[in-house]
Amino acid sequence: MSFSSFHGNDDVVRRMREALARERFPHGVILSGPTGSGKYTLALMMAQAMNCLTPADGLPDFCGTCSNCTRIGQAADLDTRFAEAVEAREALRETDKKETRILVQTHPDVLVIPPDPPQMLVKVDQVRRVIANIYYRPAEARERVYIFTTSAFMKEAANSLLKILEEPPEFATLFLLAENPGALLPTIRSRCVTFTLAPLESLAIEQDLAGLHPEWTPAQRTLVARLSGGAVGRARGFDLPAYITARANALAVLSSALEGNDHSALFKITETYRAGADGRDKTEHLLRTLYSLLEDLLWLLEGTPDLVRNTDIARDLGKLAQTASFTWVQEAGERLAEVERGMRRNLLRSLSLDAFATSLERA
Ligand SMILES: [Zn+2]
Repeated sequence: MSFSSFHGNDDVVRRMREALARERFPHGVILSGPTGSGKYTLALMMAQAMNCLTPADGLPDFCGTCSNCTRIGQAADLDTRFAEAVEAREALRETDKKETRILVQTHPDVLVIPPDPPQMLVKVDQVRRVIANIYYRPAEARERVYIFTTSAFMKEAANSLLKILEEPPEFATLFLLAENPGALLPTIRSRCVTFTLAPLESLAIEQDLAGLHPEWTPAQRTLVARLSGGAVGRARGFDLPAYITARANALAVLSSALEGNDHSALFKITETYRAGADGRDKTEHLLRTLYSLLEDLLWLLEGTPDLVRNTDIARDLGKLAQTASFTWVQEAGERLAEVERGMRRNLLRSLSLDAFATSLERA
């Protein structure tokens, strides 16, 4: 393992490593960029580079195999670690549950602070846990590292964080990961240095996918790169088979609505969207896919086919665009939003999908 495995934004990574080499690394760092652009991966790599026990040639790097690198690296699968922490809290007695905040810690000197459910905000008790040990010298590392994975803070939590940033200890670094740094208090922003990760060029993502998924065709790699909007993390985790299935169903729903004759095919599809957690995921997938197809239809109707993302089914989309009008697509988008709201209220999924498709016929 080394920084060479981080994809894209070479200049940002180099600037951070140079700051580390000169011992000028800021105590407060805002890492901004879209979902999947590698903010968390890079923050964790920096934590490893700060504490790696294997000396590097040239700019600071990390080996991935020493005891510090290994333990810090165990936090890399954030979704799993987060789910474990939530599960552990659920198992507690009611009284203890209230006092337990979600944190991820795989190394004594490195603490990851995710948003605390159900509100999914950083809460003041989480920041208090940071305050409780940030002023002690690290036990096994050179640098204490704190990674806040969201910029959504409760007010009191943001104020506590601000107090730390006003006088951070010399041996601590705080990373704030933000899709939108504007959500952070201006007083927090002014005490941090911001590094911005730009979305990657589609071609760079396609090259990355070629190594990861040699079994995918070039058209499929282009599709995933376009759908991921420049976010390499999202592209790497993209579930292509699930997307293809959902898209075939979404196309059938839309053509049934536009052609409006035989409903048996439509009902056969919507029947497969059942209640339960699986069905919920599947339906959410279908709704997202419907949105992406409607968006592509808009691009076609506006005469900007270059922006179409589902490039591999251009012919099907072209056919739909011939029967759909601009108003129809807009209306479909609004009705889709109604279906989403209905899902949140737990209305029967297959019924609301049927209602969606049939209501569009009359639009
Ligand atoms: Zn190491």
